[in-house]
Amino acid sequence: MSTIQGKVIAITGASSGIGEATANFLAEKGARLVLGARREDRLSAVVDGITAKGGTATGIIVDVTRRGDLHRLTDSAIEQYGRLDVLISNAGTMAVSPFDELRQDDWDAMVSTHITGLLNGIGAALPVFRRQRSGHFVNVSSTAAYVVKSPLAVYAATKTAVNVISEGLRQESGPDLSVTVVSPGFTHTEGVGKGATPEAASAMTQMRDEIAMPPSAIASAIGYAIEQPAGVDVNEIVVRPTVQA
Ligand code: NDP
Repeated sequence: MSTIQGKVIAITGASSGIGEATANFLAEKGARLVLGARREDRLSAVVDGITAKGGTATGIIVDVTRRGDLHRLTDSAIEQYGRLDVLISNAGTMAVSPFDELRQDDWDAMVSTHITGLLNGIGAALPVFRRQRSGHFVNVSSTAAYVVKSPLAVYAATKTAVNVISEGLRQESGPDLSVTVVSPGFTHTEGVGKGATPEAASAMTQMRDEIAMPPSAIASAIGYAIEQPAGVDVNEIVVRPTVQA
């Protein structure tokens, strides 16, 4: 087994939920973290919590839909630590709705956060990884990429795109880079149903409260992918609650 200790890891969407849990998990294993998200207060709280326990983390305000923000994230890792080992593209939004609601701003937000945001991360990190001759993309998808359930079609489509982009990237990545897609099922976070239509939000939060896994389950799956030895690439991990259909 390789180790997480000392790895320089950038995480988008680290201010809550899966990103926050992953930051805490990796910090405990000795990673050096550069954390990005838009809410400064929440991001600072995560960074402060990690440093108070002796971990290593800094935060940077990042909106993944802005190309330059991803460059600032990767630049920050290099300025502080001289390298970047892993980029975890986790930022996401579950503002789902039936098509008749015509919530086109929410459709745009899912497309720009999950697809453009992922591509912005690839654009910023790939040249760094090529230069270093090593690097690992970890892309957070969803079980929604495998099963379309109304009213999650736009969300599911963008997460399917995450899988497709990741597989293409893997094929082009060559022997030095790794690409992992981690697809969570229902996970207990504040993001479930956030911004969704009231009916969808209520169904999703009810489901979450009945069956969801803790975000630590996803954090440890991501950790498993990262701690593989050189030359071993875990390409896909799907993690569901046992009771999820
Ligand atoms: P949260 O809402 O808790 O986390 C989402 C994170 O993404 C927040 O830190 C948020 O921070 C950040 N974010 C959203 N938009 C942007 C943006 N444009 N730029 C930068 N950061 C952004 O929800 P989860 O932890 O549940 O979600 C994390 C990922 O897991 C998402 O990709 C989601 O689709 C995926 N997922 C979640 C599942 C679940 O059941 N919870 C199931 C399957 C997949 P801020 O607002 O501060 O920017």
